[in-house]
Amino acid sequence: MTTTTAVDGAQGITLGTGIQISELHKEFRMGTKNVVALENANLHTDKGTFLALLGPSGCGKSTILRILAGLETPSSGTTRVDGKSPDELRRDNELGIAFQDHALLPWRSVVANIRLPFEIAGKKADQAYIDELIDLVGLRGFEKAKPAQLSGGMRQRVSIARSLVMKPSVLLLDEPFGALDDMTRQRLNLELLRIWTQKPATTLLVTHGISEAIFLSDQVAVMSPRPGRIKEIIDIDLPRPRLPEMQRTPEFHAYVDHASDLLFGAGAGVGGSALED
Ligand code: ADP
Repeated sequence: MTTTTAVDGAQGITLGTGIQISELHKEFRMGTKNVVALENANLHTDKGTFLALLGPSGCGKSTILRILAGLETPSSGTTRVDGKSPDELRRDNELGIAFQDHALLPWRSVVANIRLPFEIAGKKADQAYIDELIDLVGLRGFEKAKPAQLSGGMRQRVSIARSLVMKPSVLLLDEPFGALDDMTRQRLNLELLRIWTQKPATTLLVTHGISEAIFLSDQVAVMSPRPGRIKEIIDIDLPRPRLPEMQRTPEFHAYVDHASDLLFGAGAGVGGSALED
């Protein structure tokens, strides 16, 4: 059976640990129109939780992540992680971010790309830790390669290593493997889990993959179509370490069915292809 947490209504600002999103509202100006991307979204997790934000394309998942990262300002509402605002998180180098577009600098080698956050922060690079990360993400032997010499999966590994290099307490992942083929994506998800287990951080993963969200996470926040709200938070009570064969168990299927009902069921307000781009 699935356990869920209702998220109706505001819960006020909580200066607790974990991700705290309170009454988040975001409108974008599009020509002469305003587009409401988020409508009073609320979300509260505990420190160290791996949470997936699941919802149809355009429901505001990336907008939430970008607001948490301080890359976008909310129209109203607040976000805090471990009691810190986005500016404070950035100032304290607490944020690790990886996007679908790996955003590596093409003229820099693997190791120089992973080192970049130290340079931006004006800090001396921790070479021993960079070495450890290169092993962790399986890029030993490719340290001097340029991004163009790597496969798509390898580029995303560099991006993940770079997001971890400052030992962030918060990891924000926006479909980091979204552009990769299914097999590579599955393999990298397993590697991500292995890395996360060794270096646990409060994590928010944006995805439109139902199975992926359930397989990786402690909690899955299901969003409604735009204007985005958090519809329900599903607690994923599967043991860790997660193993690929767990995806074939009745418990796993029950979670998939429940999330699918929330996304596509009566009253969901979306068609069957809502998760397609
Ligand atoms: P998701 O990540 O769930 O696919 P987004 O957060 O990227 O959704 O976008 C939510 C909505 O806000 C979409 O309708 C999108 O077109 C709109 N939007 C996002 N960023 C901007 C922007 N910079 N300017 C205008 N509209 C935007």
